[in-house]
Amino acid sequence: LHQRVQVYQTKDEFSALAMMFNAMMDKLERSFRQQKQFVEDASHELRTPIAIVEGHLSLLMRWGKDDPKVLQESLAASLQETKRLKHLVQDLLVVSQAEAPLAVLETEKIEPVPIIKQAVQNMVLIHAEFDFSLDIATLEGIKIAITANHLEQILLILLDNAVKYSTTDKRIEILGYLEGQYTYIAIKDYGSGIPESELPNIFDRFYRVDKARSRKQGGSGLGLAIAKRLVQKYQGVIEVQSEVGVGTTFSIKLPKE
Ligand code: ADP
Repeated sequence: LHQRVQVYQTKDEFSALAMMFNAMMDKLERSFRQQKQFVEDASHELRTPIAIVEGHLSLLMRWGKDDPKVLQESLAASLQETKRLKHLVQDLLVVSQAEAPLAVLETEKIEPVPIIKQAVQNMVLIHAEFDFSLDIATLEGIKIAITANHLEQILLILLDNAVKYSTTDKRIEILGYLEGQYTYIAIKDYGSGIPESELPNIFDRFYRVDKARSRKQGGSGLGLAIAKRLVQKYQGVIEVQSEVGVGTTFSIKLPKE
């Protein structure tokens, strides 16, 4: 993209400046490339649900008046895809800001325990076949600086993944503990696991280890990118430990108030 500036060894100040310029341009170039990739990936993700809705609308136009079954089915499918589209756009907005400087947030100080309990209860309702176990007593009375909505969103992404990538062993454990100035919340599953070579990539936007499986289960490859973005907003860290065929544990580490 850019012409590199020749670095001369003799003039120290000039060569230092030239090196700085080159480094800046490299960074800019990388950022352009990432932006371009993001737009391409996002368009690709949006195209599928739009094509489905388009297909159903043309079915409705042709047969909808005469065939109540087509009418019902196509309306239901279109509504579902439109909802998916709406979530996707919301997710895209969150991750598109991933490289923007972090805003200083007016954060609440909240107790995580009731929020964790609520998130797990919601999961129990929709996934009755799973065995969720909670071990968060050590977090009782502890406060952390995070917006309640955001903590809930992070937990739901991780719990949802634990469910999606579980196989026959349907246990999911939620563990809370304290270490130094930090509060940890860990979500452990006994599912497919993630190959070690893939671990550095899974927090990237749109990255999926198994594209077909993820898509089939409604995944967009944005969940972990969003979770990471949100955790970092609150000076936290998200970590993963995983072994193929054994299971995966995601932990979020947030500063204690
Ligand atoms: P997706 O919408 O595909 O689930 P995510 O960003 O949430 O996107 O996750 C990225 C990828 O990381 C997933 O496609 C999956 O391959 C892998 N992954 C995430 N969570 C787990 C888990 N608990 N067990 C196994 N693989 C996981």
